[in-house]
Amino acid sequence: MNDSKINQFSTKISKLCELLFPIHRCITGNGTRETLKILKNNIDLTLHEIPTGTKVFDWQIPQEWNISDAYILNENNKKIVDYKKSNLHVLQYSVPIDKKLSLDELKKHLFTNSKHPDLIPYVTSYYSKNWGFCLSYNEFLKLKDETYHVMIDSKLKDGSLTYGELLIEGKIKNEILISTYVCHPSLYNDNLSGIVLTTLLAEYFLKNKPYYSIRFLFIPETIGSIAWLSINEKKLDNIEHGLVATCVGDSGVFTYKKTRDGDNTIDHVVEDVLINSKKPFKILDFWPSGSDERQYCSPGFNLPVGSLMRTPYENFEEYHTSGDNLNLMNPKNLVESLLLYISIINKLENYPDKSTVKKQKRKKKTSKFNDPVFLNLFPKCEPHLNKRGLYNSINQSKNLEKMKTQKTIQWILNLSDGTNSINDIAKISKINSSFLLEISEILLKQKLLLKL
Ligand code: ZN
Repeated sequence: MNDSKINQFSTKISKLCELLFPIHRCITGNGTRETLKILKNNIDLTLHEIPTGTKVFDWQIPQEWNISDAYILNENNKKIVDYKKSNLHVLQYSVPIDKKLSLDELKKHLFTNSKHPDLIPYVTSYYSKNWGFCLSYNEFLKLKDETYHVMIDSKLKDGSLTYGELLIEGKIKNEILISTYVCHPSLYNDNLSGIVLTTLLAEYFLKNKPYYSIRFLFIPETIGSIAWLSINEKKLDNIEHGLVATCVGDSGVFTYKKTRDGDNTIDHVVEDVLINSKKPFKILDFWPSGSDERQYCSPGFNLPVGSLMRTPYENFEEYHTSGDNLNLMNPKNLVESLLLYISIINKLENYPDKSTVKKQKRKKKTSKFNDPVFLNLFPKCEPHLNKRGLYNSINQSKNLEKMKTQKTIQWILNLSDGTNSINDIAKISKINSSFLLEISEILLKQKLLLKL
């Protein structure tokens, strides 16, 4: 690719980032809709609306959330937290509130991150009704013992979930799926960078007809991929390769998270392209938490979808804080990521099938003494753990024990396809088998598992 093309990409990246960064996106609502409408200026996206209450596997499309203002006033009527200054200041999906309360009462609804005392954390509460504010730890420490007035002017109403989709027809009908998520507010690397990369990638292949057809999805994370999979089950046989585009804009080394089988053509091609790039990179085996690959790679689908990132979510300092802003943006990094995605898609054409897993059909197992085999009764996408009290309702948990339980649940559900015993899962997940057994008992009682 010549320098002028690279400069063109850089200019477009800067413009799109600056335009989209301030918009308050969420899993539903007008910010996400507005974002997708702006992308329509670049690529011919189809916007889909799924009504509130629609059943999608074990989930339901939630009510639509919109917000116009939020603040905390102190006794001197001074705004000490102001949504207009940062959309991260509000707990995402907060129900409306307008009341006066004491500092002690207020503290139950405040979220901070003491590890990054100057940054505002990004916190959500999608599936349990709550309200709250997020502020830097240093601002939190300054709060005096007085009466505060909290106001959140939000609306939770029946509406719809919006997502964008574009299918570029290639020379063959078989598809590559490129999926990115559009539900994060003003945060750059996670995941405005993914939105911008996916848009420019689509724009490129609209001008350069690809060999495979390419399906681009711009969806809210988790609920969006669950909804899309639920509505489009019949189309899944066409998907031969896939990637989730996230965290592609920082300067970290490329990190590829493999597909669930770890031995699909996409895994081999990404590795080849990374080797040929002569840049440092990391390749990681699949793990069942993370982004939408969790749903695409749930045992009922097991789609060949990996994720190519730079520094993965949770691993960069500014992750889910106000530090993940446009100061991190250097278009050069995003261009580099984009060129890698283009190379991967081009290389998939006529790539020899080197995979062995698909050919050796995995054998079903039965339980042995002290080494039971379970079957996940909700194999298509994750079951809704929150409504069963099995998931942190707020995405910022300081409770490591809870986090460990959550990850263990995800491992058990993802690998309990009848071919893995508890000891097998222990080897793959590196979680000890007695804890796996303990959690499996809870999942059995909740009727999420069946013992084989
Ligand atoms: Zn995130």
